[in-house]
Amino acid sequence: HYDIVIAGAGQAAAQCAQSLRQGGFAGSLALIGDENHAPYERPPLSKDYLSGKRDAAKLLLRKPDYWLEKQVTLLTGQRIGAVDRGARVLTLTQGRRVTYGKLVWATGGRPRRLSCPGADLAGVHAIRSIADIDGLKADLAPAARVVIIGGGYIGLETAAVLRGLGHPVTVLEAQDRLLARVTSPPVSAYFADLHRRHGVDVRLSAQVAALHGGARVESVELSDGVQVPADIVVVGIGIIPNVEPLAAAGLPCPNGVVVDAHCRTEDPDILAIGDCALHPNLFAGRAIRLESVPNAVDQGKVAADTLLGQGKPYSALPWFWSDQYDVKMQAAGLAMDYDRIVPRGDPSGPGFAVLYLRAGRIIAIDCLNAPRDFIQAKALITGGTAIDADRAADPGVELKTLAA
Ligand code: FAD
Repeated sequence: HYDIVIAGAGQAAAQCAQSLRQGGFAGSLALIGDENHAPYERPPLSKDYLSGKRDAAKLLLRKPDYWLEKQVTLLTGQRIGAVDRGARVLTLTQGRRVTYGKLVWATGGRPRRLSCPGADLAGVHAIRSIADIDGLKADLAPAARVVIIGGGYIGLETAAVLRGLGHPVTVLEAQDRLLARVTSPPVSAYFADLHRRHGVDVRLSAQVAALHGGARVESVELSDGVQVPADIVVVGIGIIPNVEPLAAAGLPCPNGVVVDAHCRTEDPDILAIGDCALHPNLFAGRAIRLESVPNAVDQGKVAADTLLGQGKPYSALPWFWSDQYDVKMQAAGLAMDYDRIVPRGDPSGPGFAVLYLRAGRIIAIDCLNAPRDFIQAKALITGGTAIDADRAADPGVELKTLAA
């Protein structure tokens, strides 16, 4: 029995456990995670870990003895298969049973798989965990031709690293632009141009019909019949939240676990945080899931506060970053439901940004090597500030001076 069990041992879980101890929680506390690793950070997986610049030990979120010091029991390599809410019992897939006082569900998501023929051929990889990257690296012969399915952040970061390692790389994106779900056409065009300049074959409106091969994948067939030769296929088409045990226990999980602004589910003993939590988001004006480290950290803190009875609601400004080649992308706010886009600067210049406005107020920004704009815009977005859009288009004008 543990007073608090955190399901999952990733970014959100680690933060929640740390915040609980910092907040004075002295009861028994366990993290149960199905990977064979102490909590680690995922962003470097498609960046410095894939490139070989960082090793696995450097991914750990806390030093190995931290958990012992803080008296947090880490049960790794153990998967929670079922939740009995009435008895407050978790059944692990190895058969062990663990009872909880409170349960924090922090299980993230798993990569969505292709549904076309050939999706399970050898040589087809997804990117979510250390094990995934180790498997990809072991399978990656020198000069192997790589086809990446999905022009989202993970696919594009992977493309950048594998180009850097000298592989021929093709990116297949089903939409007519990259990053269509998360950004605007000017930023999509910026990234398409960036990758093409580095020699990536970026193909838009490319629908995958099938993967072909014998012992392993040899080509990707598109819906127009075109065959793209492939020694390695990397699939980056989004994640599915890991919620099945909670859904089976009767909690609403339409696309993630439904929680309120305090990360509480409708079961008073169960909270949910991080990538798997469908939460009311002030900046979206509706319930969404966010897949980002800042969100996992912020919700880890909010859940700890809730459990400690302090009750500060989640209201953090969403933000995100991505590294590709020598470009650092930083985004703040949510580029959704905007009625005006303001490009700031020249996409081919050293720094570029795109502002998103709704009814004259800045609601989001994407910054490409423009860290100063990022910092200044965060404050404006948080304040729901009305800005002078014409002046905002001039990169010579500091954003912080723009409040109309
Ligand atoms: P996770 O960190 O995924 O942790 C959940 C853990 O729970 C996993 O170990 C999972 O295996 C485990 N689990 C699942 N089901 C069970 C079960 N039934 N029983 C036990 N354990 C279970 N975000 C950024 O902000 N910036 C970036 O640049 C960025 N880059 C990324 C690059 C990659 C390659 C990936 C994969 C993600 C990236 N992210 C980035 C997203 C970020 O890593 C996630 O948003 C964050 O890890 C979410 O934390 P989490 O704790 O919710 O989930």
